[in-house]
Amino acid sequence: MPNPKKRHTHSRTRSRRGQWILTLPNLSRCPQCGSYKLPHRICPNCGFYKGELWVTKKEKSQPETEK
Ligand SMILES: [Zn+2]
Repeated sequence: MPNPKKRHTHSRTRSRRGQWILTLPNLSRCPQCGSYKLPHRICPNCGFYKGELWVTKKEKSQPETEK
């Protein structure tokens, strides 16, 4: 079994982990409702994209149509 000859020092481990960068995804404001959304995606809040309504929200409180 191959084993590392020497263990890494704390500073070497820490300096490697210092390169971990947390970045937020690029968020843009929805021009329709003002909430944050991913660019080139339909707004998850209002369902608008390029000023057009693409997705309508489902009404949770209303039951399915009964005839
Ligand atoms: Zn929106």
